[in-house]
Amino acid sequence: MITANDLNFKNKKALIRVDFNVPLDENFNVKDTTRIEAAKPTIIKVLEDGGSCVLMSHLGRPKNNENEFSLRHIIEKVSSILGVKVQFSEDCVGALALEASGNLKSGQILLLENLRYYEEETAGNRAFAKRLAQHGDVYVNDAFGTAHRAHASTSVITEFFPDNKCFGLLLASEIVSVKKVLEDSKKPVTAIIGGAKVSSKIGVIENILEKVDHLIIGGGMAFTFIKAQGGEVGGSLIEEDKQALALEILGAAKEKGVQIHLPVDVIAANSFSEFASTEVRPIDNIAQGWMGLDVGPESNANFARVIAASKTILWNGPVGVFEMAQFAKGTISLGNAIAEATQNGAFSLVGGGDSVAAVKQFNLGKKMSYVSTGGGAMLEMLEGKELPGVQAILE
Ligand code: AMP
Repeated sequence: MITANDLNFKNKKALIRVDFNVPLDENFNVKDTTRIEAAKPTIIKVLEDGGSCVLMSHLGRPKNNENEFSLRHIIEKVSSILGVKVQFSEDCVGALALEASGNLKSGQILLLENLRYYEEETAGNRAFAKRLAQHGDVYVNDAFGTAHRAHASTSVITEFFPDNKCFGLLLASEIVSVKKVLEDSKKPVTAIIGGAKVSSKIGVIENILEKVDHLIIGGGMAFTFIKAQGGEVGGSLIEEDKQALALEILGAAKEKGVQIHLPVDVIAANSFSEFASTEVRPIDNIAQGWMGLDVGPESNANFARVIAASKTILWNGPVGVFEMAQFAKGTISLGNAIAEATQNGAFSLVGGGDSVAAVKQFNLGKKMSYVSTGGGAMLEMLEGKELPGVQAILE
């Protein structure tokens, strides 16, 4: 795997696909700078070598080049994070854009306007990719968040850089982190899969069953497993049509020697509300009109025990409705257990679900070995799929 660290960018123009698809508030201020900060090491590497950077990204899903999706809004924030005044081009492939990149000197950075102002980007248009390619001598893909898309700037473009392409440092570290969990992992390996529904995580579960020793299942999806085994789950979230699948997963796990850990107790609530009445109930004995919105204390203790004995930990999805303080304790307790195991030497990867938001909300990010920057892309990697943006660099 050739990364930006393996190349010397002296007097070279690096055309870097970054993921600056950041959330903006109503005044177009950047609300969360994580993705910009995550792209910084690659950009700084190029500049320190004596090269220049042409940055390209998408922002949101524009239909008619609406102003709200202009990357102009983020220039100041990007400049302040990088410590370099970033130049801006109002288009991506026109004469002015090419002139701007052509005039770029070592140490300078040019940001192109939103790639998705051109429908050719998502269509993977070859002529558009060829025009984009004229901006740089070397192509660097550091956009993990869009690595699962076969777009012009993420995969088609590599055709024009047969010998001058590499992984950005962020993309490389995302790939290495997944490898550490699924391929070169230290045992015992524990995966915690939570979140709302079995249906959205089935691909991940099927793939990781081959690789883990313990699988902790929490969140809304646990109830489908419990009901499928004859439990009374009251009004908890349930996918009726996924019960057979849940039993299949339990069977497959047994066959492969994977220990499944389901919650044994829950915080049951009489409505889906921060102000609901609550009580701790056995997970398979929840009354009608009540629903499990978080895992209970005994489950927290069980999960913490498994995690403390693990050397590799993957966390995907919260184990309760952590957005409401009343039902956040299970997710916080789990996060703390993973943080402690990490401090004691385990490798922990958080990614591919709302667990990343939970980790941020509870300030646990720095205590994890790696927190992924990509939602959909991380899910697809955990499902064992090849990402087009990754394949295009390897080919
Ligand atoms: P995901 O994006 O698949 O990781 O799902 C995250 C969502 O699952 C969060 O918004 C949680 O509020 C939700 N969730 C977690 N536990 C439960 C539960 N017991 N009942 C309903 N929703 C839940």
